[in-house]
Amino acid sequence: MADNKLYDVLGLSRNASDSEIRKNYRKLAKEYHPDKNPAAGDKFKEISFAYEVLTDPQKREIYDRYGLKGLQEGDTGPGAEDLFGHFFGGGGPFGGLFGGFGGGMRGPRRGPKKGENTIHRLKVSLEDMYNGKVSKLQLSKNTICTSCGGEGGPPGALQPCRTCNGRGIKVTITQLGPGMVQQMQSRCPACDGEGEVINERDRCQTCLGRKVVQQTKLLEVAVDKGMKDEQRISFHGEGDQMPGVEPGDVIIILQEKPHEVFQRSGSDLMMKKTITLTEALCGFTTVVDHLDGRKIVINHPPGSVLVPGCVRGVVGEGMPLYKNPFEKGDLYIRIEVDFPDNYFAPEPKLKELEALLGGRPPAEKIPADAEEVNMTEYEDNGGPSGSRGQCYDEDDDHHHMGGQHVQCAHQ
Ligand SMILES: [Zn+2]
Ligand SMILES: [Zn+2]
Repeated sequence: MADNKLYDVLGLSRNASDSEIRKNYRKLAKEYHPDKNPAAGDKFKEISFAYEVLTDPQKREIYDRYGLKGLQEGDTGPGAEDLFGHFFGGGGPFGGLFGGFGGGMRGPRRGPKKGENTIHRLKVSLEDMYNGKVSKLQLSKNTICTSCGGEGGPPGALQPCRTCNGRGIKVTITQLGPGMVQQMQSRCPACDGEGEVINERDRCQTCLGRKVVQQTKLLEVAVDKGMKDEQRISFHGEGDQMPGVEPGDVIIILQEKPHEVFQRSGSDLMMKKTITLTEALCGFTTVVDHLDGRKIVINHPPGSVLVPGCVRGVVGEGMPLYKNPFEKGDLYIRIEVDFPDNYFAPEPKLKELEALLGGRPPAEKIPADAEEVNMTEYEDNGGPSGSRGQCYDEDDDHHHMGGQHVQCAHQ
């Protein structure tokens, strides 16, 4: 059974003319535009949807015959699903209309076109992701011209395109052979597929007949504590506006800037700390400037040796968790030990040091026929023996080569 919902939305009767539809749409679109009347909620979408359907002769015919149900069954472009959900979902003015209908129905549905989403990348420091921040983002977007209500000119200025008879499509028929023709459809070049044209002298002075004007809009992007790299923040319906098209969203994608001290791994933070050999053996104390400005003191007591590359953790000094900022991840500190380049000390001092470090292992027995060779610095550039001596892994500096240990010298 057909219904009158779309005519009711625009305050029209079923036999309304094209120009009446446009006139009422223009009036209502001005009144309920989200920029002017944010409280109106989805009203603007409903008006746009009704306009889109009733100004398309094909869609209007389907609607007049079968109602909204007929439109929903037809094939549509992508993005229509959302609006149908909105239009027909419970609670709205048309709630329950399709109760018991949509089960098992799949595939595209008919609805107004949805505009493209606008994507912006926003660079955010690790400090701001730790502490939270509101970033102001200025962007320019197309908005429906308020002087002409998106019509491009005064009432009646918009004429159906004569080239395509208002269809927006140019049909070319090519004779391929006797009794065989090929029919090709393409976008009408005279009206750019719009189906409508405006005489130059009638064009709206504000938008020059473009129906939209460019405006600068300031968006306040709330970067919440614990937000992550690549996290998306959407501003629904803030994309470019076009008459009869539901505006797309503005989507902000956060990009975490690299930090000098900390690397982030989920909710944990990692940092490197280079200490001297003496500190590795005898303990050390250091102060770390944290992301919220606190200074934290990290203390390693003497007695337990820190080997190069070892990792120590500080519980609860990582990143705050998103939506639960009082919980925090952990901070991991990777210890690098700066060995002295050369260490010369008088013989008795070296003996003393040996004793302090626990003495030497027992001396190896050297067979009488052993040959003495020279051990020199080894350059990691292929060396005399080609690939055999190359270092493959930073974490393992020792490789067997012909039974000898060769230490790679990393620059
Ligand atoms: Zn205008
Ligand atoms: Zn045309």
